[in-house]
Amino acid sequence: MADIQPSSRDFIRDIIDADLARGLPAHGVATRFPPEPNGYLHIGHAKSICLNFGIAREYGGTCNLRFDDTNPTKEEVEYVESIMEDVRWLGFSWDGLYYASDYFEQLYRWAEFLIEKGLAYVDDSPAEEISRMRGAPAMPGTPSPYRERPPRESLDLFRRMRAGEFPDGSRVLRARIDMASPNLNMRDPVLYRIRRATHHRTGDDWCIYPMYDFAHGQSDAIEGITHSICTLEFENHRPLYDWFLEALELPHRPRQIEFARLNLTYTMMSKRRLLELVREKIVSGWDDPRMPTISGLRRRGYTPEAIRTFADRIGVAKVNSTVDVAFLEFCLREDLNRKAPRVMAVLDPLKVTITNYPEDKTETFPAENNPEDPAAGTRLLPFGRTLYIEREDFHENPPRGFFRLSPGKEIRLKHAYYITCTGVVRDPATGDVTEVLCSYDPESRGGGTPDGRKVKGTSHWVSARHAVDAEVRLYDHLFTQPDPQNTPDNGDWKDLLNPASLQVLKNCKVEPGLREAAPGAKFQFLRQGYFCADLQDHRRDRPVFNRTVTLRDTWAKMQNRTRES
Ligand code: ATP
Ligand code: MG
Repeated sequence: MADIQPSSRDFIRDIIDADLARGLPAHGVATRFPPEPNGYLHIGHAKSICLNFGIAREYGGTCNLRFDDTNPTKEEVEYVESIMEDVRWLGFSWDGLYYASDYFEQLYRWAEFLIEKGLAYVDDSPAEEISRMRGAPAMPGTPSPYRERPPRESLDLFRRMRAGEFPDGSRVLRARIDMASPNLNMRDPVLYRIRRATHHRTGDDWCIYPMYDFAHGQSDAIEGITHSICTLEFENHRPLYDWFLEALELPHRPRQIEFARLNLTYTMMSKRRLLELVREKIVSGWDDPRMPTISGLRRRGYTPEAIRTFADRIGVAKVNSTVDVAFLEFCLREDLNRKAPRVMAVLDPLKVTITNYPEDKTETFPAENNPEDPAAGTRLLPFGRTLYIEREDFHENPPRGFFRLSPGKEIRLKHAYYITCTGVVRDPATGDVTEVLCSYDPESRGGGTPDGRKVKGTSHWVSARHAVDAEVRLYDHLFTQPDPQNTPDNGDWKDLLNPASLQVLKNCKVEPGLREAAPGAKFQFLRQGYFCADLQDHRRDRPVFNRTVTLRDTWAKMQNRTRES
């Protein structure tokens, strides 16, 4: 179970409190998370999950997982399974597991009930004609020529629609509401369409399928949902939601409440577009660590705690806005800083030979695993005559202010000795430095000297003889623009893809203990950032690490800047 701190107050919890104060609902607060299994869940869904499950937990109520599977052409079992896995991984467990398709028979009977009451009719008009007659908000729509069709005739046609007597798209069932309503959703919305498609659960049992609006509120009513929380784009569907419950004379009336969707900078959340990235192999799959999907974030090295904290802190609002992705990263760093063991990894290795250190000698240095967590203990780091340091930690002609290794300069090797650069070895062909020669001060063992002399630079390192070869994958934003989601819906949004969103480093050297890293294990590579062993590709004999997030805290910096200005 996730240890969620009580969430901050928001208008949804205020509504629930007011409902409870009025004595409602008798059976306790009941929410649901209703994904359509037409893709993998993303960080926006995580907000909805944390909200729905979080509220149920806080109020001692229940939260169902309900697959909103009314559109067979786009839905797949793979998505159903990934959604269950992601909800569990986030730390939640559902009370009931349902599918809108469980209610197809009931929904069908309710449709017949509406026809019998004169509140629904079969319309033979072509789809374009129906949408033309629906009109625009400023002007009343045009009633369909089939609007006054006698209920008996509609009932007969509707039954024959179900029996498969008519081709796809030839007829629909519409509610008979108000063709003059300023809300277009109320202008005789479609309830059923004919679509021959094999459903991932009901197979070929049905060739007519209910529309979202006809399924959602009724599913809520069947399950005894008290507060049906959804995103703002459903606000003007609410009158329809209520109309169905009323017209069907349902005893239980769930209440729909809308909140603002989460948008993140440099991130695209539309499932349709994410699917396009997967299909066109622009990313390696739904779980590509650059994807905003829960499975992508998991593989990137995100923790469920960081995502829950993020969801909680951004809160719930009535107005859409975009959250800086740097804030998500801030929540992640905060969590990883507490948990991730510190290790040394050299991403761009440069060989260092300590010429006055015995050839065959090895010694070990104790190193703290996590200064933030004394319980994390220490490990022993092997040290020898030949080491690797980060290439950027050496400069032959150091610019002003460069305090790391350069000819004649002394630095500290983290946890080990002071070393001084005494020379370099070059590639005879290119003249590039291929190796740095150093001497060490045996007195500086453990990082200090008897004379108390100070050095300005400290480098991380690994012993060449003990180092493990590793591949490291560095990630950056998938998009170059802060607001890619606002681009027009043609091919152009893909022009905003960041060509440098993935950089693969094949020749990294990491400390020997990392050979034992389990897939998914998280680390802070000293001075580099947080990394995790890749869930798919990491092997003991071929370690692969993903950079989860850099150490540089852009969010905290931005906060300071705002405070200073
Ligand atoms: P998308 O537009 O990304 O395809 P969707 O809304 O169609 O998403 P659903 O599977 O229908 O996806 O969503 C399940 C639930 O998650 C709904 O209640 C929906 O409102 C909520 N949800 C989806 N995206 C977000 C988001 N960005 N922020 C908050 N809640 C979201
Ligand atoms: Mg949807």
